[in-house]
Amino acid sequence: MIELTEVTKLYPGGVAALGGVSLRIDRGELVAIVGPSGSGKSTMLNVLGTLDRPTSGTVRIDRYDVARLSDSGLSALRATRIGFVFQQFHLASGVRAVDNVADGLLYSGLRASQRRKRAAAALERVGLEHRMDHEPHELSGGERQRVAVARAAAGEPPLLLADEPTGALDTASGAGVMQLFRDLHADGTTVVIITHDRDIAASLPRQVQMRDGRIVAEVRS
Ligand code: ADP
Ligand code: MG
Repeated sequence: MIELTEVTKLYPGGVAALGGVSLRIDRGELVAIVGPSGSGKSTMLNVLGTLDRPTSGTVRIDRYDVARLSDSGLSALRATRIGFVFQQFHLASGVRAVDNVADGLLYSGLRASQRRKRAAAALERVGLEHRMDHEPHELSGGERQRVAVARAAAGEPPLLLADEPTGALDTASGAGVMQLFRDLHADGTTVVIITHDRDIAASLPRQVQMRDGRIVAEVRS
């Protein structure tokens, strides 16, 4: 599903956010990325989500060599194959939950009525059928993140990437969100989750540990 080969990312000023990372993640895996703040986790997730291009090295997603795709090709790859969840939810304010989710399907080729139907089903799936018409400010943090997961998953992308998805949540809400990722994984989605939470990381079948822009250890349990 994902293959990084000797990937580096240098920022202006000489910061090597990634110092030569090689990583293979197979279809259907559930992987935790762990490491101290500043170790390159978000940079790696952005590179493997094609939000950012590496300075050198190759990135293959679903067999596509990302460097060979045009910007519009990359946008299409992202829109159809990758779902993203971020720590701060990234929902549009003043927009109902159902429309936040439906807007994530804008590039799916579905008609507006079909997008809304899919969005409603995705919200039902995350247990928010009673919150369809609520705006983000009318939802708790845990509920907002459920909406964000519904939006990421509504198009049934084969790959879900999450950057500290429980970082802003209390323990109970975080556990609920993690259960959603487990359910999606059980249905065949490849899931990669950055987490600071040791218990969450330890509960996942594979942990990739980063430090100073490199992978320093791997644990499989
Ligand atoms: P993590 O997610 O593990 O906390 P990041 O991937 O965000 O780490 O950052 C890795 C390193 O790259 C850090 O030293 C950070 O300061 C630096 N960095 C991240 N983004 C940028 C940027 N846009 N410009 C310059 N340096 C950056
Ligand atoms: Mg980060």
